[in-house]
Amino acid sequence: MRIENDPKLDFRDVLIRPKRSTLSSRAHVDVNRSFRFAHTGTEWSGFPLIAANMDVVGTMPMARALLKHGAMVALHKHYSAAELIAFFKEPESANAFYSLGTTASDHEKLMAVHAQAPISKICLDVANGYTEKFVDTVKATREAFPKAAIMAGNVVTGDMTEALILAGADIVKVGIGPGSVCTTRKMTGVGYPQLSAIIECADAAHGLKGLVCGDGGCTVPGDLAKAYGAGADFVMLGGMLAGHDECDGEIRYEQHGHEKVAVGMTFYGMSSDTAMKRYSGGVAKYRASEGKTVEVPYRGPVEGTLLELMGGVRSAMTYIGAVRLKEMPKRTTFIMVGSQLNTVFGN
Ligand code: 5GP
Repeated sequence: MRIENDPKLDFRDVLIRPKRSTLSSRAHVDVNRSFRFAHTGTEWSGFPLIAANMDVVGTMPMARALLKHGAMVALHKHYSAAELIAFFKEPESANAFYSLGTTASDHEKLMAVHAQAPISKICLDVANGYTEKFVDTVKATREAFPKAAIMAGNVVTGDMTEALILAGADIVKVGIGPGSVCTTRKMTGVGYPQLSAIIECADAAHGLKGLVCGDGGCTVPGDLAKAYGAGADFVMLGGMLAGHDECDGEIRYEQHGHEKVAVGMTFYGMSSDTAMKRYSGGVAKYRASEGKTVEVPYRGPVEGTLLELMGGVRSAMTYIGAVRLKEMPKRTTFIMVGSQLNTVFGN
């Protein structure tokens, strides 16, 4: 047994210190980014936000709505091959990742879809990206798809970020346990504070010209700003995009006088009892559920939330004088705000 003593931080443990700048308005900042993927040499530009590959938010309607603002979606893996073929033939699939796990049937389905509708963005997603089988899957997928951008995860440390990039990932998905409907930390005691995970994995990835996607744990727009400030190239959101018209969740209505009003929508983790019952007929005997089911407020079309998120990031950039989103990590100084921690670190 060994104890690591350096503090590891979550979004709630820090704030971003304001900095002097010549910027006069948030209208002058640019929240978009352009990336060249390390293994393909292809480029992507847009607002680097990705809806999580959870079946409530990683939907085709979400992909269409977010594309209008340059954001992305990792589609959930429970769509049928026929639905995926039809979707990936549409131009509206431009910013969508095809998500899959590591089973042979996942791979066969991907190949079948790809034969009919070429896939250019792949999200290889497992709860624990630390297994040799996962690294082998990333390698095999890179060999089969030399021209596709591959996002792979999840991991939380620099060593494994490097391993996945060297195996063929362009983007490493970072986060174990921070999700809003995740119970991994409670069920297993395993996890890593998300802000530190992003800082450490981004440092490792950028050294190899790879990218990271901070996945999970954002609960307010300011958390997105902190994630970008910490070095996240992309940020993935589940809970913050739940409760919208584009989601595939059950809406709960209340009778208000003569009117039936939508008030809430179900949202659940992909390894919750709800998801396992829906797709596998229940929780397998050898595993415990590591996700929960909640109701989030119904919030109408996702566009309003997306604009609010972009507005929060834009405003954060103005406070620290970052004209382009790319400059955020350089301009970010985090202040620790935990009760016993008042040290300033960063630039
Ligand atoms: P959120 O934005 O809701 O905080 O986090 C979304 C992320 O939570 C997802 O992208 C995924 O990585 C993670 N997640 C989704 N469902 C589950 C689950 O059932 N268990 C665990 N451990 N993580 C989950």
